[in-house]
Amino acid sequence: MKVYLDNAATTPLSAEVLDAMMPYLTDHFGNPSSSHAFGRKTKTVIEQSRRTIARLLNCAPSEIFFTSGGTEADNLAMHVALNDLDCKHIITSPIEHSAVLKAAQKLSELGLVKLSLVKLDESGKINLQHLEQLLASNAKTYVTLMHANNEIGNVLPLEEVSEICKKYNAVFHSDTVQTMGHYAFDLQKLQIHFLNASAHKFHGPKGVGFIYVNRAVKANPDIVGGGQERGLRGGTENLYGIVGMAKALEVCYRDLEEHQQHIRSLKEYMASEMEQAFPDIIFNGDSRNKESLYTVLNVTFPETKNADMLLFLLDLEGVACSGGSACSSGATKGSHVLDAIGALRSGRASIRFSFSRMTTKDEIDFALVKIKELCSTPVLAS
Ligand code: PLP
Repeated sequence: MKVYLDNAATTPLSAEVLDAMMPYLTDHFGNPSSSHAFGRKTKTVIEQSRRTIARLLNCAPSEIFFTSGGTEADNLAMHVALNDLDCKHIITSPIEHSAVLKAAQKLSELGLVKLSLVKLDESGKINLQHLEQLLASNAKTYVTLMHANNEIGNVLPLEEVSEICKKYNAVFHSDTVQTMGHYAFDLQKLQIHFLNASAHKFHGPKGVGFIYVNRAVKANPDIVGGGQERGLRGGTENLYGIVGMAKALEVCYRDLEEHQQHIRSLKEYMASEMEQAFPDIIFNGDSRNKESLYTVLNVTFPETKNADMLLFLLDLEGVACSGGSACSSGATKGSHVLDAIGALRSGRASIRFSFSRMTTKDEIDFALVKIKELCSTPVLAS
């Protein structure tokens, strides 16, 4: 048996999504910028996909721009804030995804912006008083704080933060890559300048995402070229990716409560079984809390002989999970998120298990058997 418990890294493509994409990989291949019938057909489907996404999020289709994924959108929002909205100061947190943190660090190193990191409590929650202090004592600010943390599952109080940002006239972006398709959004109610998504996190294809840009923002091109995406992002559109992403989002929101319930019960089951098996297990960040991202459980196992090799040994036994966020080299470095909340513990393995609506209880049971076998070997006295 092979069990996949790394859905925060990526999710399997749903069959319904593949079916929706297929005609655009085969029969309908026209360039959407072409004026002939082939192009008009694909242009139409791109605009239909945009309308589908806008309807699901309750915003205008003109506020949705397609990108190559979450990373590009994180970078794009930051560039627009600096170049077009006159932000001179960025506030973010030390536990953001690298697509935000490294982009902000780079701009700060180049001397283009001042960078402040907001304080966290020991579970990784954002200190909102500190956020206010930073906003009160700085020039026009771009606040970028993720909706849910991909490693420890902490969820940001989005409305509260958006109110604070409004009070200080700050530009607000939230990386919603881990929550899009997993939580409902109403963009008529939420006061936010940007949020973004990546299709492969909700059973869509890889290499495609979108950014919501509030209509009040007048954004200039970030990638110049053929003027696609109403001039904001040049380059021939990822036609079948866009079609797949819209379908994937539609499927997520069609049965959202059912998916949520299913995944929540699996997470709770796994957590309580592990608690019983290992009384001194630690749940990192907020991940055991009911309010946390229901797809993520981050645990530190007791000291065992196998601690350093645990991820590798689980993989050999057929259980795929993660020791931090997946990075391009495939290596897992010590997690900057666990490090920032003081949760890196030597001699003990920290593992993120992440679930999707396709995960089954049998798979959790299989993983639990392997985990119990591997983590029950105590450290030998030397
Ligand atoms: N932001 C968050 C919170 C993520 O979890 C990820 C993916 O791991 C990204 C951004 C990057 O998205 P993409 O893989 O589409 O570039």
